[in-house]
Amino acid sequence: MPEQPPLVRAKNFEEVALGYAPEMAAAEAGRCLQCKKPACRKGCPVEVNIPGFIKKLTQGDLDAAYGVLRETNSLPAVCGRVCPQENQCEGACILGKKGEPVAIGRLERFVADAYLARSACETVTGGPACAMPRGDLRVACIGSGPSSLTCAGYLAAKGIPVTVFEALHELGGVLVYGIPEFRLPKGVVRQEIQAMKTLGVEFRTNWVGGKTITVPELLESGYNAVFIGVGAGLPRFLGIPGENLIGVFSANEYLTRVNLGRAYKFPATDTPTFPARHVVVFGGGNVAMDAARTAMRLGAEKVSLAYRRTEHEMPCRLEELHHAKEEGLEILCLNAPVEFLGDEKGRLTRIVLQRMELGEPDASGRCAPVACQGDTCSLEADMAVVAVGTGANPLISQSTPGLATYRRGYITADPVTGETSIPNVFAGGDIVTGAATVISAMGAGRRAAKAIAERLLGPEAAATTTANAAGDPADA
Ligand code: FAD
Ligand code: SF4
Repeated sequence: MPEQPPLVRAKNFEEVALGYAPEMAAAEAGRCLQCKKPACRKGCPVEVNIPGFIKKLTQGDLDAAYGVLRETNSLPAVCGRVCPQENQCEGACILGKKGEPVAIGRLERFVADAYLARSACETVTGGPACAMPRGDLRVACIGSGPSSLTCAGYLAAKGIPVTVFEALHELGGVLVYGIPEFRLPKGVVRQEIQAMKTLGVEFRTNWVGGKTITVPELLESGYNAVFIGVGAGLPRFLGIPGENLIGVFSANEYLTRVNLGRAYKFPATDTPTFPARHVVVFGGGNVAMDAARTAMRLGAEKVSLAYRRTEHEMPCRLEELHHAKEEGLEILCLNAPVEFLGDEKGRLTRIVLQRMELGEPDASGRCAPVACQGDTCSLEADMAVVAVGTGANPLISQSTPGLATYRRGYITADPVTGETSIPNVFAGGDIVTGAATVISAMGAGRRAAKAIAERLLGPEAAATTTANAAGDPADA
């Protein structure tokens, strides 16, 4: 797929990967073997009918290809861009055993982008009508990330009115306030949300579940079911000296300021960014990569990423690591921070790093980092970004009597239906699993929506698609 050249894109927020031209998409689609038992489909958490959509694409029928995608995936333009395909669909593609797997994500993006250029109503419904046949029912979704959006889209397609309550002033969850513009343009997410609005989903922003309105209040006010999809956005810190110095940020705060405050457009927008020459980011996941690549684009002279294991163990998407290195990111493997040092004004000036080595595999299956005692060094830095994970915000669980939680406050939910310890209250996405992926959050939203539809409409009606639906033979 064509890309902006590394040295050009490292200074702008335009999308890095430019998308296939039609002939490239046709050539790539032509490589698909149309396996009878497609392993790629099993590798996808929402079981997209991959050979099916690719076949329609090779036949030149883009509308039908999009229809196949939408049978199981309500955000294909997003997934085609941000899924870790190498561990999912493409990781299971048979062609990958001896060569390159079919570029399934890129083809998905091509089909969705081409289709989304059409009218929003048709995009979702396949026709001009967007009727809401079941006015006697209503469901509330708390949060507007991929889990809630999928749940809402699925239910609305079944004719069940849905209201989404979002704490922030913008919709989309991490897709909008976490993942930067150069990887997932906000316009793509907005377009998918617009399609849901057209379908009848009502969105209310600046509504904090657990504060503005609680789960029990939603049920009392007549919502037949509630889906909790509030993510796991509470940043974790390192707990080392100097972490409160000026210039030390959590990745969550840094990316949210840049994304939601449109700081990447400063001075055209009025949210200034923190000026920094040498930035050090801690972590090895997608969040760390996004923070590092954002700092580059905001003018840092040098950006380093310190990770306590090696590149081999990094959990980020391979493509992000590859792009970041091309753009000039310095990677300091086997290094962990032990102290932030500052000047008399309380500003970060240096960071002390501890050298690490790999030990035996830990619970995650990856080799555990072990400190090389007495082996430390320090490096100059005026900004540090900590991207070492996030946790559950307790707001909902504390305001919902009887809602069971487990490890670190994540909500306990049935793995098949997503139902929590409270009848008709469902949960899914990062607030149940801990930080995971867009597609796994979508899978959870979809499973919960299916269970809700069956509960409210009965199994037979729930399996029937309404005039609203883009078609869902997977349910039939
Ligand atoms: P979220 O996307 O977190 O959405 C939750 C929403 O709920 C938010 O809008 C939040 O404001 C709202 N909310 C929270 N509390 C309340 C409340 N009390 N009341 C109302 N609303 C509330 N995954 C990938 O697959 N590929 C990637 O490339 C990738 N990159 C990432 C980059 C970054 C920077 C981050 C942070 C994550 C990344 N992920 C990636 C992970 C992925 O984005 C998440 O796993 C996914 O978004 C989780 O979806 P969710 O619906 O559970 O929650
Ligand atoms: Fe692959 Fe993600 Fe598309 Fe599934 S949704 S086919 S995992 S890119």
